[in-house]
Amino acid sequence: QLYNQIQETKGNIRVFCRCRPLSREESSTGCATVVDFDAAKDGDLGVLTGGSNKRTFKFDRVYTPKDGQVDVFADASPLVVSVLDGYNVCIFAYGQTGTGKTFTMEGPEHNRGVNYRTLEQLFSVARERSDTFTYNLSVSVLEVYNEQIRDLLATSPASKKLEIKQTSEGSHHVPGIVEAKVDNINDVWSVLQAGSNARAVGSNNVNEHSSRSHCILCIMVKTKNLMNGECMKSKLWLVDLAGSERLAKTDAQGERLKEAQNINKSLSALGDVIYALATKSSHIPYRNSKLTHLLQDSLGGDSKTLMFVQISPSEHDLSETLSSLNFATRVR
Ligand code: ADP
Ligand code: MG
Repeated sequence: QLYNQIQETKGNIRVFCRCRPLSREESSTGCATVVDFDAAKDGDLGVLTGGSNKRTFKFDRVYTPKDGQVDVFADASPLVVSVLDGYNVCIFAYGQTGTGKTFTMEGPEHNRGVNYRTLEQLFSVARERSDTFTYNLSVSVLEVYNEQIRDLLATSPASKKLEIKQTSEGSHHVPGIVEAKVDNINDVWSVLQAGSNARAVGSNNVNEHSSRSHCILCIMVKTKNLMNGECMKSKLWLVDLAGSERLAKTDAQGERLKEAQNINKSLSALGDVIYALATKSSHIPYRNSKLTHLLQDSLGGDSKTLMFVQISPSEHDLSETLSSLNFATRVR
């Protein structure tokens, strides 16, 4: 019965699995691959768990290390365009640090990922529809670190803590955050750059810091129908989640322990919310983390959700890979 319930809401929750290639170092040291893509076309991913044991996981899509940014975006594209039809959309990248979350969402400058391609696509579709609709786009770039929201586009350091507030109509927002208006794709690149520069401020290792915080790009769309004058607002969230890896026992103290507990708390809260939505639970526990509280309006109802589960092919990452795939199976 649970299975049927999940199938019914399938329209709104999608899970795609993407496996990165072996790194040059892994290849040169003869590292074995534990992932099998024989049935990747059907959305099946095999994992060799030791000896002759193989477990199969089912997804809406499976991307092999050979699939590129264009292949991935081709499947995400209809979903992102639906924000122009008034839907709220959330896209997440989940997985262990080093599996390609940032590669998928941000991507290198010469091979850009979902974030940039999304905005490019939105501007292009908006232009096609300009006889009938006008669209106003703006973006916010936020970070959630240790259950605190930081505005990465703020020009001066925030004097007050950023908090999530509910309006009288019931929608959620963060008063005081910068919403940068973007009129074309050139505006976007500079805003994204400003956001990632701000991330570096105050952290001595940017990569380490970003693997312990959730990096969030929110695209706000205001639509006006020129035929009947109707106006609509919708939001698209693109989230590069903190690394899902468990903390090494030796690191389990002080600041690192606190960070790990906060990450753990927010990732499980996200899993719980998506699971509650998929099983049509009467209580959706949005308030259990800053992340789910912030995204509340865009998770559930007729909103659309896409989760990229990022994995490593390496035998050394097997246990983290299984743990990510189990997380994904639960929400799918
Ligand atoms: P994460 O954000 O999950 O910690 P990264 O996106 O930083 O992981 O990726 C780790 C490394 O693997 C980077 O050097 C990145 O360029 C590389 N990488 C990840 N995914 C791919 C891919 N699909 N193709 C090529 N290189 C990739
Ligand atoms: Mg990253």
